[in-house]
Parts: sequence; C-alpha cells; structure tokens
Amino acid sequence: MENESPKIIPIQPAPYSRSRQAGESQNVLDHIVDDFQDNPASMQYFYDLFRRVYCHGDALQHEGMLVGTTCIQAPEELIYAFGATPMRLCNGSYHYDQRGADFMPAKSCSLVKATLGMLSSETVIPKIGKPDLIVNPTTCDQKKKASAMIEGMGYSVYDLEVPSVKESEASRVYWQRSVRQLAGRLQELTGRKLTRKSLKQAMSKTTRAQAAFRALHNFRRQSPSLILGKDAFLVTNAYFFDDIGRWTTAVEKLNEELAQRAKAGFKAVQSKAPRVLFTGSPPIFPNLKLPLLIEESGGVVVTDETCSSNRMLYDMTAVDEWRVNDMVDSLADKYLKPCTCPIFTRNDDRKRRLLDLVSDFNVDGVVYQAFAGCQVYEMEYRSVAEEFNRAGIPLLYVETDYSTDDKGQLSTRIEAFLESMKNRKKQRA
Ligand code: SF4
Ligand code: SF4
Repeated sequence: MENESPKIIPIQPAPYSRSRQAGESQNVLDHIVDDFQDNPASMQYFYDLFRRVYCHGDALQHEGMLVGTTCIQAPEELIYAFGATPMRLCNGSYHYDQRGADFMPAKSCSLVKATLGMLSSETVIPKIGKPDLIVNPTTCDQKKKASAMIEGMGYSVYDLEVPSVKESEASRVYWQRSVRQLAGRLQELTGRKLTRKSLKQAMSKTTRAQAAFRALHNFRRQSPSLILGKDAFLVTNAYFFDDIGRWTTAVEKLNEELAQRAKAGFKAVQSKAPRVLFTGSPPIFPNLKLPLLIEESGGVVVTDETCSSNRMLYDMTAVDEWRVNDMVDSLADKYLKPCTCPIFTRNDDRKRRLLDLVSDFNVDGVVYQAFAGCQVYEMEYRSVAEEFNRAGIPLLYVETDYSTDDKGQLSTRIEAFLESMKNRKKQRA
C-alpha cells in the first residue's frame, strides 16, 4: 500500500481582535469606560465607535474618493466640496510607533513614526482602504520629510505648501495660492468642478460640526466640571475618521445631556479637583496616557490647546464675499491666521490663547506635553513657561512618547503637581 501524503492544515491568520494593536486599544478603552464613574450616557456612541473601529477592526465607509490628511492645516471643506471624504491619518498607536521606528530615525516624534508605521502596514487600522490621495501639509521638518517616504510606500501624495511665517502679507498670499493649487489637484483627482454651491454646502457641514464642538467647549467652563477631559478627547479624536453628520448629531446629543446635568447641579468631579489646561503635542487615541493620568490622580482637564481637539475645531471661517474665489481665500485665512502650532517662526498668538483659556476656564495649572523628538514644541516651551511664570500660573512640562514605560514616574510627577495646586487653592481660599 502506498504511503498517504500527510494532510496539510492551512494556518489561519489570527483574527484582528487578538492582535497587539487591538489589545492596546482595548486596554485604553476599558480604562476610559470602566474605571471612571458617571460617564455621560451619550458617550456610549463614541465608546461603541472606538470599540468597533479600533478593537474589532471594522471597516469604515466613506462617500466618493478618500483623501487622507496628515495635519489640521489641510482644508477639509475643499475636500468635501469635491465630493470626496477627508480622513485624518495622524495616529496614536504604540504598536505602529514601534513599526515606524524600524525605518525612521530613533529620535523621530511618536506621532510621525506611528502615522508612517500605520501606512506601511498591511493591516491599516482604522480600516479605511487605500486613500486616493494623501495631502501632507509641509509643516514641521518630520512631516516634510514624510512625504517622500509615504510615496515610497505606494501612495499618491500631495505636498501642501505651508509658509513658516504667518504674520506677513506675503505669507498670506503664498498660502492662499497653495490652497488654490490644492483645489486644482482635487479637481484633477475627482474630475469635478468647484462651485459656489458645493463649497457652501461643504462649509455648512463643518460649521454645524464646529457649532456642536463650541457648545461642548462652553459646557466645560462650568465649575465643578460636567464632563471629564478623557471623554472630550475621545469625542474630538472620533472627528478624525467618523462620518461628519453622524459625529455632529452625537455631539449635539451629548450637549443636551450636559445641559440637563448643568440644570440638575451635577458634578463629574469633586469641587476641589484641580482644573487643568492641556497644551502641546496632541493626545491621539489610544495614546491618551497623560490626560488619563491627570484624571485618575484627581485632576480634571477642562480645556486644551492641541491639534487633536480645540485647535482643530474651534476657529470658524469668516466669509466676506460669497464668490467662489473669495470663499477659497477666506477658507485659507481660517487655516493660517488662527493656527497656534509652533511650526511658525513667531507664535505670540499661542501664548495669548493659552492665557485667555486660563482665565475663561478658571484653570489652576497647565500641563505641557512635548513628544520626545519634537523640536518645535520643545523649543517653544521656554517662552511659554516665561509667560506663565510672569502670570503666576503653575506649569508642568512633560517630555514623553507613546510607550507606557514612563507611566509610573509620570504618575508621581502629576500627583505632586496636582497636590501643589490643591495647596495653592487652599491658601488662596
Ligand atoms: S502638531 Fe502641528 S504640524 Fe503636527 S499635526 Fe498638529 S498642527 Fe500639524
Ligand atoms: S508633535 Fe512636533 S514633530 Fe510631531 S508632528 Fe507635531 S510638530 Fe511635528
């Protein structure tokens, strides 16, 4: 009898939900949902969304062509106006950060490493499908150099040229021309024409979303707080990839619940909880390490000056003339003038905005996050610290990255910082 050949059992790839990146997201989400009391019921929409997208790896749907963006400087209204969907690709996963570290310099910023690590992966999460175009604004040096690397991975990349100075008339004109050129590239990509009507419709989508965000922002002025910062960051992080209409409706629902909380005299934290303003390198899910450490130590993040939240959604477009070219120029102005990212040569606006937020939100102290390797945030720290020092506002500077190795040490520093703020409050009372 002939020997039967051994049966080969094919190895099934492990399901995504058992991968390291799903595990990382699951841990952070469980912490956000289960380890804090009195989460608003309307936050369930966002908890479910992150669970589906990051923990189960569900695919995201989009309308028309998909245009990835790597920074808030890419005008999303223009993308919508051409019938395409913008998707912000900035990534917060340590898993992808490590993947990016395999081909990027060791001292690169975690955000850029994770974004490139994600794009180089065969299992891109969020599962968005391959973008038809990636718009990469030429902001910091690392983002600038990322263009060619992303292109080398087989993506089509458009360099959106951003000036380094924002105060001069020359830079304004230069930027307006850049934005018009982007419109030309989008027209070529989609085969559509930019019209007054399509741009107006696109602007009304973002205006409605921004109005919902502003209402949420205003509820956070209340003392004691109605909602924790970890939830507010989750809401704004969802804006990166969620359908804009669904996102807006979910935020409006959350605002209704916060209005009821305010009426009922609800407190999400103790009256004495130190109120923190968060600034610097942006917290992006699942890397909400620092806001979570602040809130599990008894503080509350009441507002922020970061590009994953306030800086992304607060400033609205002011249109003088409703002719298509003027509308594009007004849009360009919205993206240049109010931007407080430290990529610009001078950034007095950032200091002014921070001081305004301190007084408007009754802030007790400021936490400044700088991702290791991010020179612009590291360099700008000194002048921001001097400003706060003059104003007598406590500031904690934290240089960190996406790994969890420094959690213990950071937790001790944050506890001590919050304690000093409590003592300060007591002395002033
Ligand atoms: S930190 Fe600045 S350059 Fe980087 S994504 Fe945010 S706004 Fe863009
Ligand atoms: S944190 Fe710094 S290095 Fe990283 S993207 Fe933003 S500006 Fe660039």
